[in-house]
Amino acid sequence: MLLTSPRTRRRRVRIQVQETLKRIRAEREQLCSSSQLSCDENSTVNRNPKETLADTTDNLFVSLDLNNGNAVDIELQNNESELLHIDCTEVGNITRREELASWAVTHNIPHNALSSLLQLTRKWLPHEGFPKDPRTLLKTERLIEISLIEGGSFYHFGVSTQILKILRDVELINVRLPHLEVFQNQPNLITLKIGVDGLPISRSSNLQFWPLLGKLDQDPYSRVFIISIFYGTTKPQNLNSYLGSFVEEMMEIEKVGIVFNNITYSLRIRCIVADAPARSFIKRIKSHNGYYGCEKCYRRGTYKNSRIIYPVKAPGDEYSDQSFKERWYEAHHKDISTSPLESLSLGMISQIPLDYMHLCLLGTMKKLLLVWTEGKRPYKLSNGQQNLVSKRLKSYRVHIPQEFARKCRGMNELKHWKATELRLFLIYVGPVALRKILDQRRYEHFLCYHTAIYILSLDLGDKKEWINFAQCLIDKFVTQIPILYYKELLVYNMHSLTHLCADVKVHGSLDNFSAFEFENYMQTLKRMLRSKSCHLSQVVRRVGEAEALRLKETVSKNQKLISVSKPNNCYVDNDGRIIVLEKQLTETVFVANRFRTKCNMESYPCESHKLGIHVVSDLTETDSFEICKSQISKKCLLLPLSEKKYFCVPMCNY
Ligand SMILES: [Zn+2]
Repeated sequence: MLLTSPRTRRRRVRIQVQETLKRIRAEREQLCSSSQLSCDENSTVNRNPKETLADTTDNLFVSLDLNNGNAVDIELQNNESELLHIDCTEVGNITRREELASWAVTHNIPHNALSSLLQLTRKWLPHEGFPKDPRTLLKTERLIEISLIEGGSFYHFGVSTQILKILRDVELINVRLPHLEVFQNQPNLITLKIGVDGLPISRSSNLQFWPLLGKLDQDPYSRVFIISIFYGTTKPQNLNSYLGSFVEEMMEIEKVGIVFNNITYSLRIRCIVADAPARSFIKRIKSHNGYYGCEKCYRRGTYKNSRIIYPVKAPGDEYSDQSFKERWYEAHHKDISTSPLESLSLGMISQIPLDYMHLCLLGTMKKLLLVWTEGKRPYKLSNGQQNLVSKRLKSYRVHIPQEFARKCRGMNELKHWKATELRLFLIYVGPVALRKILDQRRYEHFLCYHTAIYILSLDLGDKKEWINFAQCLIDKFVTQIPILYYKELLVYNMHSLTHLCADVKVHGSLDNFSAFEFENYMQTLKRMLRSKSCHLSQVVRRVGEAEALRLKETVSKNQKLISVSKPNNCYVDNDGRIIVLEKQLTETVFVANRFRTKCNMESYPCESHKLGIHVVSDLTETDSFEICKSQISKKCLLLPLSEKKYFCVPMCNY
């Protein structure tokens, strides 16, 4: 013992502490599981395990260091006094420490920078008790159990811990749920939306993450959390190892529920959202570019010019949850082995819907734009026409409300357009940007697609006739593809559009089952990487740090603000008038002007006013009127058509 260096002794002490902590954690987990995953707010045993453990880490370090006082070097003795000091005064300083920790996590401050800042704060405010080590401040996990699975490494964060945090933090809201058999007779039902996708870490390597993300439908803040994550140079090679921990935990939860405050909640998956390759992977079915690649019907594709072309329309032959489970159509399945997801109460057809972000936007919409800009004649627009569209798009930038994070870019930057820009184009600006650019037949053809996706993006409730109308428009759009363009465009994406309405009938508007909600979190994961090694443990530690603060949010992301400044001041009121707010008199009273003239936008497949879409003009400026906040209904996007005429579209999710 005398021959070992202080560094080695410190390391041994830390290992001892970590082992003790591991044992305590295992005992607590055992305690929790024995009480059916229960979590009583008033029980100290079941409080947030991460916070309790982090606090214990500090205290245990102090007591062990004191016991080995003679063996530690000066630096460690400094740590001792610092930690002891914190122990005495922590109650008084908790807010400041938390504030600093919150700032560091929000702005993604690296530990070395935070360490320097802590040194300064300790010098300036010596009695405040700021810790010396940023890991103490951020409650960073010191011991991480990463497992190796085929193709890479893997970490499971867990589902029940995340759900319990939400239950502890917020009051759940009621949401409209699909009428699915698996949801029947479930007391206190709460539902999960799950996201699966690959995330390349850099352009210079094949390294990638495959996170499994979750969102509780009843969470008013719509926060996304991470359930597990795979890291490797390819996608996960073994589906059972990748989904095993999640499925095992969900099976247990489905059996016993989640108990919080003496209420037992039933937890079920509402839907799993993924792109086509990820869906074929998790369902163990043929790839989307195979002969039986369609996930919704038993229609065989045909090989033509290096691609698989699908039939235009698929009458009947749709798969059902039962036909999938009982393997009625073997050619659709990859092999005889089943997906681990089939062990759960989950409809493999109805609850793994098509994702419109990949299908309609990054798929079909981008393909059409590429045909117009890079395709062959006569489908390609001339340079002059392309420049005119780009000029229009750039001029719309000042008219795009704040809800759209990305404004319009020119067609010359099309390759870099993100899904949100394609959504803005398809649903809002496309009809104006392409007006008198595309020939009339192709313009009307585009408007069929635009109108269908606009309708499906609205919260229609039980108005099934509108979904049926959207189905007719999509069928017409796909049927005309080989007539107005060419047959090779009828690939998987185009064919799958004809199945989209079926998913809307189950899950509601497109955003209810799109990957958009998970996209931001994917980028957050990428930003968590600071150094070029140990990518997975970096992410696990950063997620842990953010989790310790996550539930302190107080502002709902869905909170809608009414504005009197352009371009955020155009609304529809409860009487259907299109108004522009000029100024605010009190918190709830505004002064508004209205457009006197409203007419239909030409070339739409139905009278556009039925969709709430108008061409408006004659804005009154002399007879302004007062209007209450409660009379304001939907926010609109207003684009100039000519000097005094505007194209007005109510925003789908407002
Ligand atoms: Zn099909």
